[in-house]
Amino acid sequence: MLYSFYAPILGPWRKPNREKAMKIHPEISEAMILAAFEESAFGMSDYGFCNACAAERGSTEPDAREYLCEECGEHEVYGSEIYLMELDI
Ligand SMILES: [Zn+2]
Repeated sequence: MLYSFYAPILGPWRKPNREKAMKIHPEISEAMILAAFEESAFGMSDYGFCNACAAERGSTEPDAREYLCEECGEHEVYGSEIYLMELDI
């Protein structure tokens, strides 16, 4: 991917935390991420997903990072926008 080639020139601010690129939990599908993102953009609620156990978490802003997951106790909940960035679509 081109970004990694240019990263040292562009600097890390272009894509925050890109060096910590995460692997999306296999049970979190592209459709789920898009639905969560649309809900934040056009709906009435925000929710995200835990990247450790794939559980849904309410009250999770689209740009949330490392929120506590009430299902598994890990700080692995991310907002829909974060997942969207990882999908690179
Ligand atoms: Zn979890």
